[in-house]
Order: sequence, then structure tokens, then C-alpha cells
Amino acid sequence: MSRTDQLATLLQRTRLDRLARLSWRGLLVLNYHRFGRPTDADDPDLYSCTPEDFAEQVRLLSDRFEIVPAGSTEWQHGGPARRIAITVDDGYADQMLAAEILAERGLPGTFFVTTGFVDRPHHAWWDEIAWLTRQPVDLPPSPWLPDGLHPTSATQFRKVVNAAYKAKAGTQGEEFLDALAGWTGRPRLDREKAADSWMTWDDVRKLRGMGMEVGAHSVTHPVLATLSAERQADEVTGSVERLRAELDERIDLFAYPVGAKVSFDERTRAVMAESGIRRAFSFYGGVNDRSGGRDQFDIARAGVFSSHTPAVVAAMGALPAVLCSPAKHA
Ligand SMILES: [Zn+2]
Repeated sequence: MSRTDQLATLLQRTRLDRLARLSWRGLLVLNYHRFGRPTDADDPDLYSCTPEDFAEQVRLLSDRFEIVPAGSTEWQHGGPARRIAITVDDGYADQMLAAEILAERGLPGTFFVTTGFVDRPHHAWWDEIAWLTRQPVDLPPSPWLPDGLHPTSATQFRKVVNAAYKAKAGTQGEEFLDALAGWTGRPRLDREKAADSWMTWDDVRKLRGMGMEVGAHSVTHPVLATLSAERQADEVTGSVERLRAELDERIDLFAYPVGAKVSFDERTRAVMAESGIRRAFSFYGGVNDRSGGRDQFDIARAGVFSSHTPAVVAAMGALPAVLCSPAKHA
């Protein structure tokens, strides 16, 4: 049992979590990706939990905290000292299950949709990387991995290639994946087979009908900071306008693709301001205090991963300074 699991069990068994909750004030924004269990063609790191575990997490959190929309203006002023928002990124079809679980309890969630996957369903680059790196093979030196790579395991292979893509692929993502397919001798994933992976526009409208918030998450899910200012603006306004057209309402929330500190920069912030974005969300851990001085273009979020039991997620709510810190998130 990990130390985090031990801490979670201690909090639950001794009812110390009631005391622990008094240790912080502000808004904790939790972030989820996929719900269910990964297949061969999925990135296992994208799976946050099963729908059953999500239902249990939501029960534990909503028993203890007020659950608010991440875009709510109310969390900064007045009301309970501690609140939690539940956010879900990318626009995978399995996320509709999470929306239903939240809606059954009358709770809000905030869903950030990558519009290019809805318009033109295809495999995400991270899913293709997971598929192409299933068998570790040596890679020759390339612009993306100048020293080549001698992987020690399939997991390390996937993680190093994924990091190289994020850092260097920029606008050459397709070339990167073609080269990787050549080196590994594995075929690229069949585009047709991705059709069922993503939400449709009817699903996105259904989310709104269930009381969920919807925000933008770019068109093609690039690491914005690796692009020119012009391309960054295309990705942001393209997704915002697409959502606005389909939902017939203003879109003013944005989640940075990947969301690490280096995934967005001053040019990205300028694009946010110009595009009418009111709040933009990162993804490297942390808790938001209640002061109005908080950077509205870097609202902190902490990830829920498949290694987190429902008890651990409840403990994250009780002790976010410890369990959701940027150091813990890394
Ligand atoms: Zn994403």
C-alpha cells in the first residue's frame, strides 16, 4: 500500500478528514480524462477511473464539499471556504458516462472539448504513440530525439517518445508519427476506427442539456507554446468559434492542451485575452486561493489518475496542499 493510500485510509478510518478539511481555503479543480479501461489502441495514462469508481468519488466529494462549476464567478467571493470543481478534458465519448453520473446527483461538471476530434474523428497523437510504442525498439537519432533512444521498457519507451512529441513536434505531428511507424515497423492506426471514440455535436449539446459547462480545448490539441502566435490564435479562436456555432452561446473558458507550465506562454495569454476567454486552466497541480488576484489565465488543476482509489480522491479534497501539490502531480 502506498503512503498516499495509507494516509487516505487513516483519514477515512479515524474521521480525521473533517479536521484536515479545515487546513485549506479556496477552490480545488480536479481534472479527469477517460473513463473505463484502456484497449491496445489507447494511452493507458489517459484513463482516470472506471465509471463505477467515478460515481463513488463523486459521492464522497459531494458529501464533504460544495461542487461548483469551474467557470463560476462565485467561488472567489463569499460562500463556503472550500469548494471543488470537476473538469473533464478532450471530448471522448466515454465522458458522457461521467456527465450522466454528475447529472444524476444534480451536480455540475466542466467539459473541455477538442473540436477537431468532434468534426473529424481520428486517433489522438498520444493514442497513436501508445500504439506505436507497444514493443520497445531502438530509435535512430532524429530531429526529435537527437541522441536516438535505447528504451529499457515499453512504459519508458512510450513516455520518452510522448515527451519528445510534446517538446518538438510542433506543426510536424504527422511527420513525427509517420517516422515512428517506420522505425517501429507498426502501422499507423486506422482513422476510420476512431469514429466511436469521440463525442458527436449532439453529445456536446446533450452535455449542456444535462447542466454541464462546456469550454474549449483547441482544434487539434497541440502544445500551444511550440507554435507561432498566429497558429496559437487559430487553434484557440477556431475551437471557441466552433463551439459557439454549435451551442449557440458564448464560450469563455479554455483548458490548455497538456497544460504543463511550459505548454503555454505570454503569447498564449495574449490570445486568451483577445479571444474573450475569461478563465484558462492549466494542469500541473495546485489549489486556487480565494483572492481576486489569482491569475485568471492559469487556474490550477490537479489530475485524478487510475492509481487513485475513491478514498485517495476524498483525501485529495481534504489535504490538497499535500496531495495535489505541483510536486505530487509531476
Ligand atoms: Zn487534453
